[in-house]
Amino acid sequence: MSGWRDNIREVTPYTPGEQPKISDVIKLNTNECPYGPSPKVKKVLDEMNYKRFRLYPDPNASKLVGAIAKYHGVSKEKVFVGVGSDDVLGMAFLTCFNSDKEILFPDITYSFYDVWADLFKISYKTIPLDEDFRIKKEDYFKENGGIVFPNPNAPTAVEMPLSDVEDIIAKNPNVVVIVDEAYVDFGGTSALKLIDKYDNLLVVRTYSKSRAMAGMRIGYAIGNEELISKLKAVKFSYNSYTMNMPSIEAGVAAIEDDDYFREIVGKIITTREKAKEELKKLGFSCTDTKANFLFASHKEIQASVIFEELKKRKIFVRYFNKPRIDNYLRITVGTDEEMKKLYEALEDIVNTCK
Ligand SMILES: *Cc1c(COP(=O)(O)O)cnc(C)c1O
Repeated sequence: MSGWRDNIREVTPYTPGEQPKISDVIKLNTNECPYGPSPKVKKVLDEMNYKRFRLYPDPNASKLVGAIAKYHGVSKEKVFVGVGSDDVLGMAFLTCFNSDKEILFPDITYSFYDVWADLFKISYKTIPLDEDFRIKKEDYFKENGGIVFPNPNAPTAVEMPLSDVEDIIAKNPNVVVIVDEAYVDFGGTSALKLIDKYDNLLVVRTYSKSRAMAGMRIGYAIGNEELISKLKAVKFSYNSYTMNMPSIEAGVAAIEDDDYFREIVGKIITTREKAKEELKKLGFSCTDTKANFLFASHKEIQASVIFEELKKRKIFVRYFNKPRIDNYLRITVGTDEEMKKLYEALEDIVNTCK
């Protein structure tokens, strides 16, 4: 084998959670929201004139950027939008991580980080979480080429206190620290209030979880004007028209409907707290989740067995066959009805597999 194959970029892509083709499944495997988006989203989409689609969309997605800036009380110059936070994170890696030194992220974390690092040829070092799956801030007080972590972390659901996040940012003034806040709306504390204090901080958010719009692909980053302008320069050197017209309109409508947002997030948190209790009764232990999912391990039955048994019963959860977490299941919080079926199935599995 030679020729063109020698010059191909070899990468191992990220594997997203399964999107089952059969319809009557209970889907608790990709941390989507069990409720639909705001009804205001339907309204704007219904009112869209499809004839406009012959035109290119606004490359700056100004309307969406404006709505996000207003929601967070920051200027438009501090907001960068992308096609899901995966797009935003990818652009942020490309823009911010260009040092010869290794970037740092936890050993157990969002499994796209190492994929982007490999794709962009960024060297990296993973830092082990402690036994309780906590990020130890001191591990990040050393020479590095940049830092990224989710807070709350995934798939552990564990949150790092904001004071520790701040210490990591403060001790690393010469690199960009990316805080991936995909799950922060479910009870976490955001680092957003620190963006004016630290010019090396980039906070990344998504519409995919708490705003029930994974299918629309909207994510954004907030940081100081200079950092955001650098991100935009890279983005506009790659693809100008990333945000399509329906996503821009839907994104504006969704972020403007704060009542609906609070309602669904509140429901998910209530269901989650109940789920912790129910799982405990069934012999599971869970991490102290601040996300829309639980990270659970059973005292007697292997996670891989429960995963397969649930699948047979058409309940999909996520299992990672990876060191340290191969006896855990990541279970997205569904509706109360879905969760009731989950508890029933788990009870059955616990009784038959013991
Ligand atoms: C879901 C998720 C994302 C990506 O979400 P998008 O759908 O691309 O916005 C990013 N980071 C973490 C930690 C996630 O769990």
